Amino acid sequence: MASPVPSVSELVQEARRTYEQVFGGEAPEVAVCAPGRVNLIGEHTDYNQGFVLPMALPMVTVVVGTRTSGQSVSIVTVTKDVEEPNRVDFNLPSDGSPLSPGHPKWANYVKGVVQHYRAQPVPGFRAVIASSVPLGGGLSSSASLEVAVYTFLQQLNPDDGDKVAKAVACQQAEHTHAGVPCGIMDQFVSVLGREAHALLIDCRSLEATLVPLSDPSLVILITNSNVKHSLTGSEYPTRRRQCEEAASILGKASLREATMKDLEDSRDRLDNVTYRRARHVIEEIERTSQAAEALKRSSYKIFGKLMVESHNSLRDLYEVSCRELDELVAAAMEVDGVYGSRMTGGGFGGCTVTLLQAHVIDRTILHIQERYSGSPTFYVTTPSVGAQVLRLS
Ligand code: ADP
Ligand code: MG
Repeated sequence: MASPVPSVSELVQEARRTYEQVFGGEAPEVAVCAPGRVNLIGEHTDYNQGFVLPMALPMVTVVVGTRTSGQSVSIVTVTKDVEEPNRVDFNLPSDGSPLSPGHPKWANYVKGVVQHYRAQPVPGFRAVIASSVPLGGGLSSSASLEVAVYTFLQQLNPDDGDKVAKAVACQQAEHTHAGVPCGIMDQFVSVLGREAHALLIDCRSLEATLVPLSDPSLVILITNSNVKHSLTGSEYPTRRRQCEEAASILGKASLREATMKDLEDSRDRLDNVTYRRARHVIEEIERTSQAAEALKRSSYKIFGKLMVESHNSLRDLYEVSCRELDELVAAAMEVDGVYGSRMTGGGFGGCTVTLLQAHVIDRTILHIQERYSGSPTFYVTTPSVGAQVLRLS
C-alpha cells in the first residue's frame, strides 16, 4: 500500500500546537508552505545549464510563526529525523555582517535564506517548521525548507515578489550555508510548480514551460529505497567539477552548448571517466527535450523508454545509481502496464519515479515489494502547486 501523506492543514495544526506550547501560548500570525519535488527526467543537467522536467509534490514543508520587535530568531522543527537539537536561537547581526553557518546543521538552510533574502534587513521572528517531505530522500526537503522560509520572510517584510529571483536566492542559501553546490531545479519548481503540470525548465535562460500532466489513466509512483549511501556528500561536487572540466576542454561555456559530435571530435583529449560524464549530460539534455514533447502528445510509451534510458545512463555513464535503485527500476519494469522507471534526485539511494497505467498500481506496488531486498515506501503522487501563503483560521 502507498503511504498516506499528511494534508497541509494537518501539518499546520501540528506546527501550530508546537508553536503554542513552545512560545508561551501565543498563536502564530503567519503560515506558509512550499513543496518538495520529483524530477521526471533530466538528472544532473541543471548545473550544466540544460533542461529538467520536475513536478511539485503534495508533500510540503510548512512554516508558522510571528515577527518580533527585536533582533532575535527562534526556530523549532518538529521533525524527529534531524538527529540534532530541534530548536535553534540566534541573533541577527545588527551591523550587516554575515550570518555564519554552524550547529545544528538543519538551521543552516534557514540562516542561508535569511542571509540571501532580497529585502533586508530581516526582522526578528519566532517560527515552527513541520514537513511531510522525507528528509534526505531525494525529494528535496532542503529546497522545500528554503522556499518555505523565504515565503515566510516575504510575509514579515515583503520583497518585490520576483519568483525567479526568489528561487535563485534559495539556491544561493544552499550553496553558501549548507555547502551543497546544487543547480536551480529544486528551488525553481518549489516556487513555480503548478497543479496538474510538470515544469520544463531551461536552466540556462531560467525560462519555464508548463506541460500538462493530469491524465486520470496515468499514475506517478515514487518508491523510496530508504537507503542513503554516504558517498553523496563528496560525489556531487566531484561530478560537477568533471562536467566543468569537460566543457572547458571542449571550449564551451557549459555542456549545454556541446553536441555529441563536439564530444566525439575531442574524445582523445578527454580521459574515459570525463568522457562518460559528459556523454551522460549531453544525451540527457536531449532526452529531456524529447520527453517533454512526448508528454505533450500523451506518448507515454516513448516517455517511459526515455526514462529507462536515463536510468541506464545514470547507472553506467554517470555512475550515481546503486544496487537498490537498480533493483527497484528492474522490478517496476517487469510489470505490464508500467511505461518507465528511473532513479530520481542526486543518486546513491533515495527514490525512483515510475510512470504507469493507473489500473496496475496495486499490482506494481506488490511486485516491487516482493522483489526488492530492502523495505520500500511508496507514494502515489500528483503534480501540485508551488509555494503558498496559508490562512490561519
Ligand atoms: P533532500 O533535499 O533530498 O531531502 P538533503 O540532504 O538535500 O536531502 O536535505 C536534507 C536536509 O535538509 C536535512 O538533513 C535537514 O538538515 C534539512 N531539512 C529538510 N527538511 C527539514 C525540516 N523539516 N526540519 C529540519 N531540517 C530539515
Ligand atoms: Mg536537497
